[in-house]
Amino acid sequence: MDDGEFKATVNFIQEIINQDKKTNKHNGRVHLRFPPEPNGYLHIGHAKSICLNFGLAAQNGGLCNLRFDDTNPSKEDVEYIDSIINDVRWLGFDWEGRLFYASDYFEKMYDYAVSLIKAGKAYVCDLSPEETRKYRGSFKEPGRESPYCNRSVEENLDLFRRMRAGEFPDGSRVLRAKIDMSSPNLNMRDPVLYRILKATHHRTGDKWCIYPMYDYAHPLEDYYEKITHSVCTLEFEDHRPLYDWVLNALNLLDLPQQIEFARLNLTNTVMSKRRLRRLVEEGYVTGWDDPRIPTIAGLRRRGYTSEAIRNFCDRIGVAKTNSVVDIRFLEYCIREDLNIKAPRVMAVLKPLRLVIDNYPHDMVEEMESENNPEDSTAGNRKVPFSRILYIEREDFCEDPPKKYFRLAPGREVRLKNAYIIRCEEFVRDEKTGEIKEIHCTYDLESKSGMPGAKRKVKGTLHWVSADHALKAEVRLYDYLLLDQNEGVEEQEEGEDFIKQIKPNSLEVLDDCLVEPSLAGAASGNRYQFMRKGYFCVDPDSTSDKLVFNRIVSLRDTWDRILKAEKN
Ligand code: ATP
Ligand code: MG
Repeated sequence: MDDGEFKATVNFIQEIINQDKKTNKHNGRVHLRFPPEPNGYLHIGHAKSICLNFGLAAQNGGLCNLRFDDTNPSKEDVEYIDSIINDVRWLGFDWEGRLFYASDYFEKMYDYAVSLIKAGKAYVCDLSPEETRKYRGSFKEPGRESPYCNRSVEENLDLFRRMRAGEFPDGSRVLRAKIDMSSPNLNMRDPVLYRILKATHHRTGDKWCIYPMYDYAHPLEDYYEKITHSVCTLEFEDHRPLYDWVLNALNLLDLPQQIEFARLNLTNTVMSKRRLRRLVEEGYVTGWDDPRIPTIAGLRRRGYTSEAIRNFCDRIGVAKTNSVVDIRFLEYCIREDLNIKAPRVMAVLKPLRLVIDNYPHDMVEEMESENNPEDSTAGNRKVPFSRILYIEREDFCEDPPKKYFRLAPGREVRLKNAYIIRCEEFVRDEKTGEIKEIHCTYDLESKSGMPGAKRKVKGTLHWVSADHALKAEVRLYDYLLLDQNEGVEEQEEGEDFIKQIKPNSLEVLDDCLVEPSLAGAASGNRYQFMRKGYFCVDPDSTSDKLVFNRIVSLRDTWDRILKAEKN
């Protein structure tokens, strides 16, 4: 952890570790790993797994490796490896040089497969994929033995060697474990250990044309790295007997234990890498770092802090049954973090011109403004004020409804850190009928330090000075998916989630105006635009035009939900 401390979290995995320490199971060692397959960018579900694995290691004085599970060359890419390394680091975790690749173990894995063949525990099978499926049976019926399962050790050794040598086409043969075709667990019905795949691997090139299957490779990867607790998601529960079978069949000792936990699902959110990849490749979003998708890269560009993400992962806890977390809880966590960290500034997203008729032409006052009321060390800045200002279009109403405490004809409001003004009249555009300018007078005495400074009016508005404001583009994001419960359906194939995509999840406002203190704001800087939300400078920003992403609005629905629950 980069902040040097870690809150000890008790969950069922920690309890298993406690028990193992008591019995001195691995001589007291605690060694975990985060094992992504480099076939896409990491998402917030992975963040949960990263926080869990590195967190458990930290709170137990143990270790955590970063390991690329790169056993499937057809879908993997170095771009993904680089992004994953970057994202884990950005989240604040350190693998202390223990970065490994499953592909580095291919030779050893091959030798172990040879051992299994010699022990009569694996055979080369020539059934086609279609036939293999038929022979496997179903939940209701047991499987049937492959006609090839009784090949001699010599024949198996010869065929497996020739599979490696590239003598057979893709899909023509596989190496299978010889376990039990009548097992109630389908994973144990002579599962495939190796397949032929003539694909170039991003690390091993064309050295291999057979590749180990996940269920064979993963326990061995864990074993080679001396992992003690191999944490994975629930869908692998039924694979655990096979995980253990592989290690036991090879007579290995001091074995890792596979422990499953519930994966993170979020409402309104596409989480699987496969689906995210589709969104990227088919152009539904602008890339893997589109601020609307829950990739770490997307969240970072949106303006999320790693602290908020870690906090979120810590608070949602670790469970043994699947559930869906309300995305508004993630938003609550970033608001909470930025409330303390983000400087307050004024930005007008949909500007309406406002002229103070009794304010001197050519006069400019520097208004003292607090940078962050939540942070006593944040200091003050000066914001220029002048005769012509812009306010938010929605902050003026010609015919205000009840409880509208903003500007309306004849009404008074305070301009933040400045004067109380009264609306005297407004001007319409002759052609469109739209209100294009409002005219006000100000109360000289109402400024800070003057006798009327304490005078109260109901509304306070943010503003910018026309001559001083900077142009900005602001990108507002809505949830990408219509369906609140997308998270639950996550694993289901078939139904087309593309239909669930909202047509207008991105709204670009390109005539925004921000106060001049934001000149030169660096990409990644975060601010609270007063009354508007939290915003982050996008990498698309230039010296001519700032570009901001809205991280989250100020309205804190989660806070209200919590309060409502208490009452
Ligand atoms: P996806 O299903 O999104 O494609 P994956 O499980 O295939 O993800 P891997 O690269 O294999 O992705 O995952 C690396 C690790 O992250 C695994 O241990 C996996 O269990 C964990 N992980 C993946 N998705 C989630 C999630 N939504 N919540 C918690 N952990 C997850
Ligand atoms: Mg996967």
